[in-house]
Amino acid sequence: MDDEHEGAAWSTQQSADLYQIRGWGHPYFTINDAGHVQVVPDPERPQFTIDLYELVNDLEARGLDMPLLLRFSDVLKDRIKRINECFAKAIDEYQYKGSYRGVFPVKVNQQKHFIDEVVEFGMPWRLGLEAGSKPELLIALSADQDPGGLVICNGYKDQKYIETALLAQRFDKTVIVVLERIEELDFTLRAVQKTGIRPAIGVRAKLGSRGMGRWADSTGDRAKFGLTASEIVEVVDRLSELGMLDCLQLLHYHAGSQLSSIIPVKQAIREAANIYVELAKMGAQMTYLDVGGGLAVDYDGSKTDFHASKNYNIQEYAYDIVAAIQEACNKAGLPHPTIVSESGRAIASHQSVLVFEVVGKNEVRFGKAQDPGPNANKILQQLFETYQGIAPKNLQEAFHDAQQGKEEAESLFKFGYLSLRERAQSERLFWACCEKISDFARTMKRVPEEVVQLDQVMASIYYGNFSVFQSIPDSWAIDQLFPIMPIHRLAEEPANKTTLADLTCDSDGKVDHFIDVEDVKRVLPVHAWREGERYFVGLFLNGAYQEILGDLHNLFGDTNAVHVRLDGEGGYEVSHVVKGDTISQVLEYVEYEPGAMVERMRRQAERARRQGLITFDQVKLLMKHYEESLGSYTYLTTDE
Ligand SMILES: *Cc1c(COP(=O)(O)O)cnc(C)c1O
Repeated sequence: MDDEHEGAAWSTQQSADLYQIRGWGHPYFTINDAGHVQVVPDPERPQFTIDLYELVNDLEARGLDMPLLLRFSDVLKDRIKRINECFAKAIDEYQYKGSYRGVFPVKVNQQKHFIDEVVEFGMPWRLGLEAGSKPELLIALSADQDPGGLVICNGYKDQKYIETALLAQRFDKTVIVVLERIEELDFTLRAVQKTGIRPAIGVRAKLGSRGMGRWADSTGDRAKFGLTASEIVEVVDRLSELGMLDCLQLLHYHAGSQLSSIIPVKQAIREAANIYVELAKMGAQMTYLDVGGGLAVDYDGSKTDFHASKNYNIQEYAYDIVAAIQEACNKAGLPHPTIVSESGRAIASHQSVLVFEVVGKNEVRFGKAQDPGPNANKILQQLFETYQGIAPKNLQEAFHDAQQGKEEAESLFKFGYLSLRERAQSERLFWACCEKISDFARTMKRVPEEVVQLDQVMASIYYGNFSVFQSIPDSWAIDQLFPIMPIHRLAEEPANKTTLADLTCDSDGKVDHFIDVEDVKRVLPVHAWREGERYFVGLFLNGAYQEILGDLHNLFGDTNAVHVRLDGEGGYEVSHVVKGDTISQVLEYVEYEPGAMVERMRRQAERARRQGLITFDQVKLLMKHYEESLGSYTYLTTDE
């Protein structure tokens, strides 16, 4: 719609501001002089960069179709390092006597290659793993950690889970079973009897201090997990009676995910530190204080306590935790515990980028406003008058009139007083009004609120070759915001506004909430999409939770995933390619047998051929498509 605005002087700096990339992308994502998104996988070696647009083209040339999930291993490495260095700094500056051990919560992304990298890059920091279920426990136990590797066992547990964990304590790992429910104490005691192993036990406390935002219910009396004060005392008493109080070594809490404000972080640690001190005073052999997850990610780059952001940095987080624990322990004359944290989102989000292609668009066609003439229906004449009268000082009034005119025309049509052709004319006049109002609004400083909403009314819809349900389920399920922007043409003004629709035939398969410094944007600025020209969009910071929560809606399967590493010589290497699901694979997942399906197709084709309804050539082409589709990607592909 705004072709005349394009080509005007526009800089990549303006694109950087518009998409807020310096806010959410720092230090990993920038825009280069070519107007492409550029990845700086290792901020300590900023000279080594990867042009995201070129990377995607290169990968495509190797036969990897979009949508493509890119995992930048060096970014993951940097995230792990960053958190550990922040805690090391806080410990050093405050002369804290204990140490810090992070554990990565496996639930955030269980993909093997990813967990392998977490373990590899976590090695220098002795990063451990946290399991929240039996399958995750099996992953954590089989991980190739260093001797002494820490495994924290959370989640609902049955007897077998606990026995397995206890037996694995005999490995050269430190495996700690955290009691999340009082019943788990009985399982544990039975497991102890059966295995003869003295366990290392932790308790998860249900804190009184509330978290905030979406996961506020992770604490408080109604929380799903954790022991109340009286249950914790019961654990202490029972262990004490059995002469096993020395087994109780860890206190755990989890105040919820994406804690946007530092205030609940501070309140939670203050409460937990006191519980820790009390447990030690009661005679437990306390050595670990596990502060759970919750360290937030600044998805919108606003550095505020908005739910898509956070108003603190990792260093402040580390300072506050170290200080609170130190203070409580000093006051009680207790040694400082090993601090454990279970940051998932903050470690995993940044390393992953989804790139998909826009394959079509739907937009309002404006056309020219034509005078309907003196004999036309009155409503058409009124709409035309509204159109002619639009001026900067009456935008809001004109918008109301245009809306009213359109509604009246629709109602006249319903009662048979307007022909379809006349209704079409009323639509064109309405859109012409909108366009004229919006053109004026663009030149004005203060625009009436309703006129601002015109953006949304007039926005186009860009169709992306991806599935919201598979790749960003949280955008659909809980309106989570992710930074989204084109990865090229950034030296050109993105003069159009759009929402995004995916390939599924679900009207929820769309993205119409976008990051904004102040609030939430309902439209995304994009460049004009032109038939025959390719347009690539990147979805960033999606490395936590999205892959495993993603589902097979409409049978769109896993996307192709690629691990990219800097090679140390200015280039990159593709260290793993994980091909996305084929159609056969998703069909088998819902219990179809592709072979039998081909056979049934063949029989039907044969019958139709015998009846002379289809030719040999047509049968051949149909069967070729059918069979080839089975082995192909579930998304749209460009090959012939
Ligand atoms: C989910 C979860 C985490 C990870 O939380 P983030 O907010 O992603 O850091 C840590 N610990 C427990 C117990 C969890 O359930």
